[in-house]
Amino acid sequence: MKIKMLNMDTINKIAAGEVIIRPVSVIKELVENAIDAGATRITVDIEAGGKNKMIVRDNGCGIAYHEVPLAFKRHATSKLTSIDDLETIESLGFRGEALSSVSAVARVQVTTCNDSEEVGSITLFEGGTLVDQRVCSYSHGTEMKVWDLFYNTPARRKHLEKDKKEEDLIRDLLEKLALSNPKVAFHVISNGRSVLNTPGSGNFSDVISTLYGEKVASQLIPIQFENSPMKLTGFIGELTTMRSHREDQIFFINGRYVKNSHLSQALDSAYEGYTMKHQHPFGIVFIELPGRMLDVNIHPAKTEIKILNESLVMLLFKQGIRETLRDANLVVDIGGWENQKSKVKNVPSEHNNEPKELPKGISNPDRFDLEKNQTLNNLKVNKDNSEGQNFSQTTLFEEKGLEKIAENPGAFRIKDKVSSPQIKAARPDFTKMKIIGQLFNTYILLEGLKEIYLIDQHAAHEAFLTRELEDVFDCGAVIPSQGLMAPITLKIRPKDIEKILNTLETYKKLGYDCDVFGEDSLIIRSVPVFLGEPQSSDLLKNLINEDLSEIEAVHQEGQWLYSSKIKDKIILMACKAAVKGGQTLTNQEMHGLLEGLMRLDNPFTCPHGRPIITRLREYELMKLFKRVV
Ligand code: ADP
Ligand code: MG
Repeated sequence: MKIKMLNMDTINKIAAGEVIIRPVSVIKELVENAIDAGATRITVDIEAGGKNKMIVRDNGCGIAYHEVPLAFKRHATSKLTSIDDLETIESLGFRGEALSSVSAVARVQVTTCNDSEEVGSITLFEGGTLVDQRVCSYSHGTEMKVWDLFYNTPARRKHLEKDKKEEDLIRDLLEKLALSNPKVAFHVISNGRSVLNTPGSGNFSDVISTLYGEKVASQLIPIQFENSPMKLTGFIGELTTMRSHREDQIFFINGRYVKNSHLSQALDSAYEGYTMKHQHPFGIVFIELPGRMLDVNIHPAKTEIKILNESLVMLLFKQGIRETLRDANLVVDIGGWENQKSKVKNVPSEHNNEPKELPKGISNPDRFDLEKNQTLNNLKVNKDNSEGQNFSQTTLFEEKGLEKIAENPGAFRIKDKVSSPQIKAARPDFTKMKIIGQLFNTYILLEGLKEIYLIDQHAAHEAFLTRELEDVFDCGAVIPSQGLMAPITLKIRPKDIEKILNTLETYKKLGYDCDVFGEDSLIIRSVPVFLGEPQSSDLLKNLINEDLSEIEAVHQEGQWLYSSKIKDKIILMACKAAVKGGQTLTNQEMHGLLEGLMRLDNPFTCPHGRPIITRLREYELMKLFKRVV
């Protein structure tokens, strides 16, 4: 790596702006530099939310003695030569501005040793000026110590939030960096306490376990989707991981964390029919797109990426998530819905234990990738060594002490065993299972291989009927109806007549052929037929009593198809028509219901997002009866 000055033309094309706004901005730049330097282990040590002190230590390639001053110059970078490289850039940095910006507003001490050099160096910058540089002994890698942030810009210091808030911002950022860099072991210490420790095993699910807990990690569905030019990987949550917020919807585009509300909306809408109202799925999704479809150069801190042709990207994204869901086995175990709480972030336990490192030479097979396949002497150079300098040999020792603290965090335990999200077994075929019978006249009890299933007959029937009615609507047809031998007359309120007249066409599409008669009557000539059964006129009564303005609005806009309001009506019709709980079913009827269910893309939840199926494994029964320990 050679650090060079960018030429003026390139400089002018790079998005300019204030990069260092608060402590987290410093941490972001320093940690991204460490990652770009090939570090496999990064320690971040902050005090008072970074306001007092921030240290970022890495085992990356280090900076050569004579290159240190250059690295702190504006527009000096080893990562970009010309603006054309931006399309293919793989490093997180490329602007060559961060170190100069940080050193301009703080005191910075860099201790580093480049891979190609025998000795390291220790250099102090104050307000952007190099104050001292000397040779020192240092193991390979780099340590950046930043303190007195904004000491020379008091106005900016006043704008900082409380320590806790600044710390949270830093933790949040590091969690995202840890997710996108599973091969890097991140160790974060705040006020001497270890707050985050990822193993750096290269296994993405290990990071998820560390951040969210093993339980959440075991309830995730791996994504492997490719539809040129997009590739998706990562994990989405099973139905038991729904949240009331969108904080756990995290997206990366070509390895960079991005904030993009359209992606969140697309994720939510891909789960339509799987979730209840106001629920948001869990998802950590890595999106790969060709560089030409992106502009990474629109924001100085690079947190925003512009997606060119965004609507196509959203469409493909949604399709990818939808397909992943469609192929997953989303059966929820009995009791599984209980842990559906809001954010369940892992808090490091207070146990003493060192982070686990892999012995040298043993590369950890990337478990996620495997699944995908079926799915880190003190020679004085500067003459001025005044006593008042803020760094000296003593400072180095103090820093060694910190290193000790870092190596013995004393407050974190890495779990040896982490459960990894598995590729789910193929969907069970309920039609091939033995029907044990009907339970409480409400649930169908099935025996599968070493497991039993309970199916809510009403929810199942409702899901099936909804699909059937939607299919009819989707192809522009009307729901089949059957003429009545004796037409039924319904009494209606005269003030509703005009609305009803405007809605007759919709009723017709829904299978009700009717006409207004006189001042206060509606004659029903035919009723819809579901599953070969003519339906009662009750449904129509219900529709009429419903908020007619909704149906009317749909009619006025001329939107017959794909209207969510029509869809709501369809769901309502299906709900009313479906067998109820408490209704006795024959074996044949139960079998018919199971067959219908198997034809659905989503046999797991009813249109309202409530569960249809739950499972009890034989193994759980054995545990319950103490047959196993
Ligand atoms: P950029 O990251 O955009 O290149 P920076 O100002 O962040 O610009 O860094 C300037 C240069 O200093 C980098 O290009 C890199 O060569 C070097 N550098 C910075 N931090 C590190 C580090 N932790 N390890 C090795 N080299 C580093
Ligand atoms: Mg940088």
